[in-house]
Amino acid sequence: MAFNIPTLLLMIVLASGLMALAMVTVAWGERHEGLQFWAAGLGINALAYVFFGLRGAISEPVSIVLGNGLTSLALCYLLAAVLRFQGRAVHWPLLLLPTLLLSVALLALLENSQLRVVIASLVLAGQSAAILQVLYARRRSTIGRGVLLVMAGMGLSVLVMLLRTVSGITGTLNAESFLQGSSLQGLTFVSTFAVSLVASLGFVFMTKERADEANRRLAALDELTGVANRRSIVAALDRDVGRAIRTRESMAVMMVDIDHFKKVNDTYGHLAGDQVLRCVVDVIQNRLRAQDIVGRYGGEEFLVVLADTSAQGAQQLAEQLRTAVQAAHCAYSGESIAVTVSVGVFGGRLEPGDSWDQLIHAADMALYRAKQNGRNRVELAQAIGKVTREGVTSHSPETYPAPLA
Ligand code: GH3
Ligand code: MG
Ligand code: MG
Repeated sequence: MAFNIPTLLLMIVLASGLMALAMVTVAWGERHEGLQFWAAGLGINALAYVFFGLRGAISEPVSIVLGNGLTSLALCYLLAAVLRFQGRAVHWPLLLLPTLLLSVALLALLENSQLRVVIASLVLAGQSAAILQVLYARRRSTIGRGVLLVMAGMGLSVLVMLLRTVSGITGTLNAESFLQGSSLQGLTFVSTFAVSLVASLGFVFMTKERADEANRRLAALDELTGVANRRSIVAALDRDVGRAIRTRESMAVMMVDIDHFKKVNDTYGHLAGDQVLRCVVDVIQNRLRAQDIVGRYGGEEFLVVLADTSAQGAQQLAEQLRTAVQAAHCAYSGESIAVTVSVGVFGGRLEPGDSWDQLIHAADMALYRAKQNGRNRVELAQAIGKVTREGVTSHSPETYPAPLA
């Protein structure tokens, strides 16, 4: 297949240039996550291919040295973008070293087209491989699949550059025919075009996927304690209630409320109160099984959902949590703050038609009794009954959100 090289070069210039413009438009003034560097890399790449395209129209040294040097510089910026995305330092002198060495080598080898091709291809292969390696090393901690696209693009780039190196060494790639459609030359430019599209899309996806994940976490977790927030713990409870009804296994919930928490705030201040909330959550979490879920239901109230657990099992666990909180003195700015919790527990088998709010209601009633009976204690709910929303709402407004849609 014969390629029309000037058209291919124009396509690369247009694709890189327009994508750079699009990225700058979107990323301008936004939080720096490497998008600006990536856009700079694309812009520089577009410029490099302008110089390649002008071969014959401008002096050959200018075309060769600037074309290859700028291509290498573009890869430096792509690597900088990836490093910045990963939150790592960008050491520019080290990053720019290959570009500098390549430019010097090209200037020295203007008369030797074969060696020029070999060295340029090797350096570009090495730079693409460096980007691939940096991404590969952290692929597990990178959210989403955008990273796979960037890695695929860089992998292809390494392959094509190694192919050029080999054909440079064997002399099959003729530099004189640069703008004529030799198939390797054509393949190089087609793949450059594909790489710039796929890798750039991949990088944009990487930043988007990370932002999406941050938003998901923000929407699902309690900011102060890091456990499920009210919405997601209720959703988890609703899910588990459905499962318990289907499987006829018993399940349990606990409502844990810190005793006299207002006093902690009044005595030590709200920041100390916040620290105590985190500390109590830590104590609870350390004693739960992997399948148990804890969430912050209200200010200093935590809801624990225990799948496949009997009332007696839940009561025992609640007792353990209670004594553990009592024993754990929460440290805040040199002070050791002692707190206790009261726990209302419901556990048992559910019937079709039972719903999550009945379980919360039952645990809440037990919690109320624990408070009445002197605090720092566990009370077990006797049974779940029908929730009458009006009556309940006036008793404990915070405890009854609208059922999930
Ligand atoms: P009881 O033993 O009956 O539960 O008494 P209590 O003082 O713990 O209960 P009360 O409901 O009267 O007070 C709860 C307090 O929790 C009031 C509120 O200021 C505080 N609180 C709620 N959310 C936060 C928070 O995020 N940080 C801090 N520091 N305090 C909070
Ligand atoms: Mg309280
Ligand atoms: Mg409370």
